[in-house]
Amino acid sequence: MKITSVSSVLLEPIPWVLIKVNTDEGITGLGEAYHGAGVHHIAVDARLTQRALIGQDPRNVDKLFRDMMSSMSASGFYQGAVMSAISGIEMALWDITGQALGVPIWQLLGGKFRDRIRLYNDCHAGDEETAESYAKVAKATEARGFDAIKFDIDPKPTQRDKYNRCISNNDIAYFIDVITAMRDVLDPNTDLAIDAHWFYTPADILKVAYAIEDLNLLWLEDPIPPENVDAMAKITQSTRTPICTGENLYTRHGFRELVQNQAADIICPDLAKAGGLSEGCRIADLADMYYIPLAPHNISSPIGTVHACHACAASQNFLVLEFHHLDNEIWNTLTVERELIKNGHIDLPTAPGLGVTLDEEVARKSTKENLGFFD
Ligand code: MG
Repeated sequence: MKITSVSSVLLEPIPWVLIKVNTDEGITGLGEAYHGAGVHHIAVDARLTQRALIGQDPRNVDKLFRDMMSSMSASGFYQGAVMSAISGIEMALWDITGQALGVPIWQLLGGKFRDRIRLYNDCHAGDEETAESYAKVAKATEARGFDAIKFDIDPKPTQRDKYNRCISNNDIAYFIDVITAMRDVLDPNTDLAIDAHWFYTPADILKVAYAIEDLNLLWLEDPIPPENVDAMAKITQSTRTPICTGENLYTRHGFRELVQNQAADIICPDLAKAGGLSEGCRIADLADMYYIPLAPHNISSPIGTVHACHACAASQNFLVLEFHHLDNEIWNTLTVERELIKNGHIDLPTAPGLGVTLDEEVARKSTKENLGFFD
């Protein structure tokens, strides 16, 4: 079997990047790359496709992953948009391999630890942003079957100096009020996570982390800017509130310092940019050497989300997978199989390869730019 072409499509309104890999035996693989400017162009760039993919056997997934990394420069080291494109192609190669062998992707990744993948729903309180409105949305989301929920605590720009990262005493009190109000209305066994979106100083966000320790959050995510592992380690070691980070890191090498320093209690790689499914499992295994759970970041369409489910099923330390699109009509109709989410979980597909089928008519209607996908 040989790869004959690689194509991509950029959807809208959410700029999901889908990648299709065709073969000379009629098997087609589908993957999804994290959206970012130019990712759908990079995925079909001849330096990637001609040098590493066209004419090659798609079933040598890990070899082609290495070849893609070295196709554009001898260093073979990439982050950013190039690694996102490679991640989406890698998923498509697994889809082809699974179809060729007649098994689901999770089987190829070593088999499954679980039959369904637990999701957490990323929520927004709406325009009002009172403690009551947060609690109302939290309760309503729980009622829709999710036993894990996440909210952002982003300060309003008018309430802070956006450069010094400090939090006023009023905002600290507000954050604690909001989190406490949500925790109070949720079932004690429903997990609540909070994302601080990299805004704050260690000293100030620790005031919040200390105050909510007895609320048993699932995690506090990205409490400080992401670049400094030492600073993140200080936060993690200073509070009983679990700290989660990692959605901006690429490949196992990007996670090594974070994990070896035990600078997070939970890691959240985005598999559609961190390197795809094999690399996602390697990152999970690296973290598992320190008994750190895996909770992947995910804002993908159902294609990338179900791909992530295969890696989550095959990783012992999987905790929960992010979901962002509860009432998004395109998310709910982009696969032929509808209603993928039941009671806050996705049942692991059993069909060969990815195991779900793109509804090409829905994709066509949502297409912003087509680089050969439907040719
Ligand atoms: Mg986040």
